[in-house]
Amino acid sequence: MSVNLKRREIMAMTVGSLVGSSAVEVETQPKTAKEEKRGQKKLWRAAHIMAPNPDGLPLLKRAIEERLASLGVNVIVFEVNYKFAFRSDPDLRMEPVLSYEDARSLAEQCRELGIRLIPEFNCLGHQSWSKTTFPLLVKYREFDETPDIPLDNPGIYCRSWCPLHPKVNEVVFALMDELLEAFRADAFHVGMDEVFLIASDQCPRCKGKDPAELFAKAVNDYYEHLVKKRGVEMLMWGDRLLDDKEMGYGKWEASQNGTAPAVDKIPKDIILCDWHYGLQQEYPSIPYFQRKGFRVVSASWKDEKAALAFLNYSRKVATEKWLGHMCTTWVNGADFAKAILGMQGASETARQAANALRACMAEL
Ligand SMILES: [Zn+2]
Repeated sequence: MSVNLKRREIMAMTVGSLVGSSAVEVETQPKTAKEEKRGQKKLWRAAHIMAPNPDGLPLLKRAIEERLASLGVNVIVFEVNYKFAFRSDPDLRMEPVLSYEDARSLAEQCRELGIRLIPEFNCLGHQSWSKTTFPLLVKYREFDETPDIPLDNPGIYCRSWCPLHPKVNEVVFALMDELLEAFRADAFHVGMDEVFLIASDQCPRCKGKDPAELFAKAVNDYYEHLVKKRGVEMLMWGDRLLDDKEMGYGKWEASQNGTAPAVDKIPKDIILCDWHYGLQQEYPSIPYFQRKGFRVVSASWKDEKAALAFLNYSRKVATEKWLGHMCTTWVNGADFAKAILGMQGASETARQAANALRACMAEL
C-alpha cells in the first residue's frame, strides 16, 4: 500500500467522503469547509509582507500566530531584499538586517502553522528607493543600467541592474541561495515589477536592444537557476508582461516600455502575481495569463472594495490556473503587525491593508 493510499484512508475516516478526489488532492492539507463544498483544490490565501527590522520581528511573529493563521492565511510572500545578513557578500547587507537565525525561526513558525513562507528578492528593477541606492549598485557600479545618473537618483523612479552584465548573476544567485537555505524555502519570488529602466542608451551592452528580449533573458536566467538548478518554484510580478495597449491598466500595472512580448519567451510554469489595486469592472489580465498557460495569483492592496472586486472577478473567470489571492501590505512588517493585532500606533496605510486582508480572507 502506497503512502498516498494510506493517507487517503486516514483522510477518508476523518474528513468524510472523498469521492472524486484525486491522490494529488489528498496529499494537500485538509480543505476549508467552503473549498470542500465547492469541490475545489486548496486555494492560496496569501499575504505579501515586507521584512521588518530585527526588533520588529517578535511582533510580526505574534501577528502571524494570533491573527494570520486564524484568518486562514496559508502563504506568506516575505519581501527581504537586502535586509538580511548575507554571508556570500556582507557588503550587500542593508542594516539593520535579519539574521540567519531570525529567518530559520520565522520559517519554523510558519511551517508549524501550515503557512508556506516564500522569500522575495527584487531582481532587475527596484534597485533604489527615493534618494537611496541599494547596496548592489553602490558596490558594483559596473552593474548599473544607467551609470550616468547620480546615486541620489534625480528624476527616476528606481534603478535597474544590467541583465547583460556577465558578472551580475553570479553575485545575485549567491544571495538567492542564501535566502532559500535560511528560509528553507521551496519557492522564490524574484519581484521584477515596475522595471522602467531597461535597454538604456547609457548601457554599452543593452543600448539599442529589444526590451522584451532583455526582460525575457533576465527571467530565463533566474528560472534556470531557481527552477532548474535549485528545484524550487519561481514567482514574479506580472505587470511587465502585460501590454498596456491591450489591457488599459496604465504604465504601472502594465507595460508601456516594450517588455510585454516577453510573455511568450518565458517558461509557463512560473507563477505570475497579477497586482491591481484600483476598482475596475473587469481585470482582463487574469483571463489573459490563464489563456497564455500561466498559473496566476490575483493580488490586491489596501482599498477593500477594490480588493474584493478583484478577488471576486478572478474567481468568476478562474480556470484551474488561478491559484488564489494575495493581499499586499506595502508597509514595514512590524507596522502591519500592529495594525492586524489592533494595537495603537499603526499607520493609516497599515490599518487599511489589514482591513482589506481581513475582508479578503473572509470572502475566500
Ligand atoms: Zn545593460
